[in-house]
Amino acid sequence: MKQPDVDRLKELLNTADKIVIIPHKNPDGDAIGSTLGLHYFLSLIGKESKVMVPNDFPKFLKWIPGAKDILIYEYQTDYCKNLIAAADVIFTLDFNDFSRTGEVCKELENTKAKFVMIDHHQQPFGYAEITYSDTSMSSTCEMVYTLVDAFGLAEKITPEMATCLYTGILTDTGSFKYRSTTSKTHRAIAQLIDQGAQGTLISQQIYDNNSPSRLKLLGIALNNLVIMPEYRTAFITMSQAELDTHNYAKGDTEGFVNYGLTLEGIIFAVIFIENKEEGIIKISFRSVGDFSVNKFARNHFNGGGHDNAAGGRSELSLEQTVEKFKALLPEYKTDLLA
Ligand code: 5GP
Ligand code: MN
Repeated sequence: MKQPDVDRLKELLNTADKIVIIPHKNPDGDAIGSTLGLHYFLSLIGKESKVMVPNDFPKFLKWIPGAKDILIYEYQTDYCKNLIAAADVIFTLDFNDFSRTGEVCKELENTKAKFVMIDHHQQPFGYAEITYSDTSMSSTCEMVYTLVDAFGLAEKITPEMATCLYTGILTDTGSFKYRSTTSKTHRAIAQLIDQGAQGTLISQQIYDNNSPSRLKLLGIALNNLVIMPEYRTAFITMSQAELDTHNYAKGDTEGFVNYGLTLEGIIFAVIFIENKEEGIIKISFRSVGDFSVNKFARNHFNGGGHDNAAGGRSELSLEQTVEKFKALLPEYKTDLLA
């Protein structure tokens, strides 16, 4: 974070009493870890804040320190609306476009609060008083850590805060595997361990807490895997009916998309998940190397994200969405085979 932004943030916080922190809809480990991490940081500097998520978050994140105090807009709508309307400052974390917050979007558009954006996705919108945007960062959690360090407080990080920030770095780097993982990421992790984050315990909570239904659903997903070696592409479909056979719960399909990339020679992996309630197909895109799934998602599926991990949606049926996807591949053949 640049020094002028640090100074402006200090100034903004001086006069702010009502502070709200919001991540994107369907919050993941980075969204939950960074918002709670920031919340603990603010309390360290004597500021109260509320963390508010647009909708509920998965079970594999419920153990995280502070999780019980998170407000959930979809369940506590009126209370949350009032907080947004009355806020002095709203931090938006792990997204850069109000539309990523679903129903909360219109409340954000109408509040008089000033915004601070902390985010590592591409093409940030200009809604914030202070925009801390860095697409080279592994995670928003690493950015919050960098902010804390810029305040000179890295050694004051509490074990709770260290746990939250560690969690988001862990999940957004695919356990320190993706190419956004730098020496700076590892230095941040080292400091977080020194401040009390327990890496082994955190990994167990996140990855070794599968429900039987999640593993059964993984079986279905792998069974549905379609491999298209001519495009170095693999994709998975999950219909609502398939999800229903194993009491699908939020988060159950998290990470399934990555299995495609474990195939030799495959550089583009996709999962299409039917959501009958919302009337959409939620799509996750992953790649390795230079094929930008951010561009692909943005251009064809109303989405975006990062070069190697992006999401999108389709309002067509599951079958039509897959057809649309397959029809696009020839256009990208050169890029996929590069
Ligand atoms: P996931 O596939 O895990 O939902 O998302 C992968 C990445 O893309 C995440 O960084 C997420 O924030 C971003 N992303 C997911 N869905 C969307 C979307 O609909 N629009 C945009 N702009 N980004 C998305
Ligand atoms: Mn993130």
